[in-house]
Amino acid sequence: MHFVYSQDYYADLHGHVFRTDRYHLLYDKLVKEGLAGVDNTLPPRPATSEELALVHTSEYLNDILNIRYTPATISGELPLSQEIVDAFILGAGGSIVAAEKAREGGAVMNIGGGLHHAFPDHAEGFCLFNDIAIAIQALRRSGFEDKIVVVDCDLHQGNGTAFIFQQDPSVFTFSIHQENNYPLKQKSDLDLGLDDGTGDDEYLALLEKHLPPIMKKERPGLVFYIAGGDPYIYDMLGGLSLTIEGLFRRDRSVLSESKKAGCGAVILLAGGYAQRLEDTIQIHFQTAKAADEVYRSGEA
Ligand SMILES: [Zn+2]
Repeated sequence: MHFVYSQDYYADLHGHVFRTDRYHLLYDKLVKEGLAGVDNTLPPRPATSEELALVHTSEYLNDILNIRYTPATISGELPLSQEIVDAFILGAGGSIVAAEKAREGGAVMNIGGGLHHAFPDHAEGFCLFNDIAIAIQALRRSGFEDKIVVVDCDLHQGNGTAFIFQQDPSVFTFSIHQENNYPLKQKSDLDLGLDDGTGDDEYLALLEKHLPPIMKKERPGLVFYIAGGDPYIYDMLGGLSLTIEGLFRRDRSVLSESKKAGCGAVILLAGGYAQRLEDTIQIHFQTAKAADEVYRSGEA
């Protein structure tokens, strides 16, 4: 598998619960454990203003790129600075690089991204740019016409992504999330809103019931896997009860279905707010481990 990463994904968010130090801590662990190295790490490039404009309105881009606090930018609930905006533009470009690589058929993790709450005209929920939608529209611009399935397993509904692709039959959006939590829900092609406290077995059973028929029907040429770490039982923002082992089973399940569908997978980290940062790093690490095992072994 491949990784897309830069140390410039880090930005000082002044003690914010959304921690960008996750990214270098995860990359260091991937290198230490032999999963990532110079041979399989691609550098990101900043998304261009044309690429950002494939999804976002010129009014919003004018506000955010000029670091203005307006209703459209403060809804991101993030501090704003040039460093922060630049880091997220680089992360969005990283998702484009990951998608361009994954269309060849492998698994590619952008160590960042998955910012599924961002809408065309405003930021939301720690998400300034919807890198998922930007990467998909950049692929379309380069002539990629296959069906795309977005499998969003972050604790929170992928509301921005659902909204952006609501009228686009070429992108199937699937979101499995905690129902009684942020955000205000939009309509995905399939939403599974879970009760508070849902644990491993029920979660896995639902995933294994719904995902195979989606793959069979949609026959995607590429899967975007939004591998949020926040369904974890000890997450500070979440109310689901998955264990670290259950999250690994989730990863294996989604990635095995992508592999079985014969297509590549773009893996994005999205949320992850465990009480202990090392748990979040472990959850993201084992997502990469699952991708490496499933895509390397030829297992389906
Ligand atoms: Zn989340």
